[in-house]
Amino acid sequence: MNEPGTVLITGGSRGIGAATARLAAAAGHAVCITYAAQQGPADALVAEIVAAGGRAACLQADVGVPAVAEGLIGRLPAGLPPLAALVNNAGITGPLGAFEQATRATLQQVLDVNVLGTMLLSQQAVRHWRAAGRAGAIVNVSSIAAALGAPGEYVHYAASKAAVEAFTVGLAKELAAEGIRVNAVSPGTTLTEIHAAAGEPGRPQRVAARIPMRRPGEAPEIAEAIVWLLSDKASYVTGAVLKVAGGL
Ligand code: NAP
Repeated sequence: MNEPGTVLITGGSRGIGAATARLAAAAGHAVCITYAAQQGPADALVAEIVAAGGRAACLQADVGVPAVAEGLIGRLPAGLPPLAALVNNAGITGPLGAFEQATRATLQQVLDVNVLGTMLLSQQAVRHWRAAGRAGAIVNVSSIAAALGAPGEYVHYAASKAAVEAFTVGLAKELAAEGIRVNAVSPGTTLTEIHAAAGEPGRPQRVAARIPMRRPGEAPEIAEAIVWLLSDKASYVTGAVLKVAGGL
């Protein structure tokens, strides 16, 4: 980030996004987190960050709805500093299972949230920074599934994250000369509620044996990479896809 400002974290109320918000706030950034449906965890995290002396706000926003993604940056609370970084973290898998069983509605929803939402928000951030004469940083949250394919589990999700990675590489090159950095973090299996939402709360333990480190990741371990990439410490890093996946 070129100057102190607000870090906007989609899906920042729980899991990897919440860990990122905590870490970014502890590093001195103002944070704005979004949630889709559950206001309770978002309010609780904002209160926790503020009680610790940080600056935080939350917004309800389903980034899978194009008009919502396009309007989100315009809704940033006026009391926060200007937007300095965007973390496209919100992501969904749909139910675990063979690809032939996935419904069209699931495919559409996963692509809308993971790919279109990420693209539209990034576009809005770039336009916002251009109009303001500032630069900024974008970190997209991908998944090691993009490299592994996730056969029998959610190949559509893996494909959506591969799209996020290609988008990251291309947009980074397109914007590099004007100082806007775009990177991605590719987490391995991480202990969050996404697995329960996919239908198998114990999935991290089931797949641990095929992870070289023999354990799933913790959300704060992923957050460290995200916060580093959006910080000026990563000033010469753009177009990177950083695996944080226990050796996968
Ligand atoms: P999570 O624990 O399920 O948390 C999801 C967060 O995203 C919540 O804040 C949720 O809000 C929000 N959200 C869900 N759908 C949304 C939508 N349509 N629009 C806006 N926000 C939405 O997820 P997580 O495991 O932390 O995953 C975060 C990111 O990491 C995702 O992109 C995921 O694909 C990626 N990832 C996760 C793992 C893993 O093993 N956990 C591995 C690789 C990659 P509500 O509380 O309102 O539902």
